Amino acid sequence: MKLPKTGTPSDDLFARINEMKAEDADWRGGRTWSLIYPAGEDVDEVLRRANELYVYENALNPFRFPSLRHMEADVVAMTVDMLGGDERSSGTMTSGGTESILMGVKTARDLALVERSITAPQMIAPISAHPAFAKAAKYLGLELLQAPLRADLRVDVEEVARLVGPNTVLIVGSAPNYPHGVIDPIEELAALASAAGISFHTDACVGGFILPFLEKIGHPVPPFDFRVPGVTTISADVHKYGYCTKGASVIAHRDKATLDHQIFLYDQWPGGLYGSPALAGARPAAPIAAAWAVMNYLGEEGYIRLARVILDTVNRIRTGINGIDQLHIWGEPDATLLAFGSEDLDIAAVGDFMDDRGWHLDRQENPRALHMMVTPNHAKIVEQFLGDLREAVKNPGTSRGKEARYS
Ligand SMILES: *Cc1c(COP(=O)(O)O)cnc(C)c1O
Repeated sequence: MKLPKTGTPSDDLFARINEMKAEDADWRGGRTWSLIYPAGEDVDEVLRRANELYVYENALNPFRFPSLRHMEADVVAMTVDMLGGDERSSGTMTSGGTESILMGVKTARDLALVERSITAPQMIAPISAHPAFAKAAKYLGLELLQAPLRADLRVDVEEVARLVGPNTVLIVGSAPNYPHGVIDPIEELAALASAAGISFHTDACVGGFILPFLEKIGHPVPPFDFRVPGVTTISADVHKYGYCTKGASVIAHRDKATLDHQIFLYDQWPGGLYGSPALAGARPAAPIAAAWAVMNYLGEEGYIRLARVILDTVNRIRTGINGIDQLHIWGEPDATLLAFGSEDLDIAAVGDFMDDRGWHLDRQENPRALHMMVTPNHAKIVEQFLGDLREAVKNPGTSRGKEARYS
């Protein structure tokens, strides 16, 4: 396509967009098991209004838009507090989990350069850690060492200890990891890092806004946040279980002193002092306003109410899957994500059958599995989903071998 010579009337334009959009996944109907975290029409309305108010502003210079500076500070403070931080803690907002992780890795790298003169930095992450760590290693010039998992799909701490060397600047654990929804042994990993004078990052991108509330309703949650000694940074995505529209995450620092290694300040050009907290230059303002709005709209009470709905839904799904002979859930998921597979069936073929019924399940490898990330929106479709799954297991056929995003 080339830029059209003449403009298009907006009615025609939106007719065309809506026509294209008709092919998109039906997330409102509860048909997607990743990517979107719907929390109800009232929350949608709050998000729409906040986004609309800040379509045009730019969060690059917080002194031009004090409302944004204020809201970002509030979102960070609320998140840090939820994650067991105190008055020494701080952080910034970023565009998402990947950017928060990049900033955590950069902080560890630059800290180790200044304090330990490490110029060939290495980081250690579980094989199940999110690809954002591999991306960070590649972008920021670190070597990534991957540690294997134990039989319970949590990282093997002894293997991590074996990988620690003089150039290790960062150890990583997930709370929970994306593939299997299990929490790595954060206390042991962080103690190992702390004893060696190494930074430790908890990746709570998906867990940061659900685990604190699961804990409050009495669900057993292994320690993962700043209450664990040795955890130095945490990533937590407001655009996942914080229910914000996309573009909102927090990178939290236990000690605000380490923020200096994240923030970029520059004055060697004619344009005056330029400061930037993370990767973006010009920054969308709407995600900041939407994050502030949804967190204040729901409050602890709202997040707890939604956590109860999700936990109940996950339990119904787990019981349903465990009730199907040929299927089993991998590991013991600690939160609201899970993966299931089979010893007897081609699980990808089960996924294909489910595709045909309009359910979008990501495929995984090692172990082969179908993946589910449960939201409040799924409460209404559990029986229909399990009914289709039982049929799929009876008629799996052979897989068409369609590659899904995480396979
Ligand atoms: C989603 C996720 C990320 C990456 O976050 P994005 O917002 O997609 O960049 C990192 N870690 C875990 C465990 C995640 O679930």
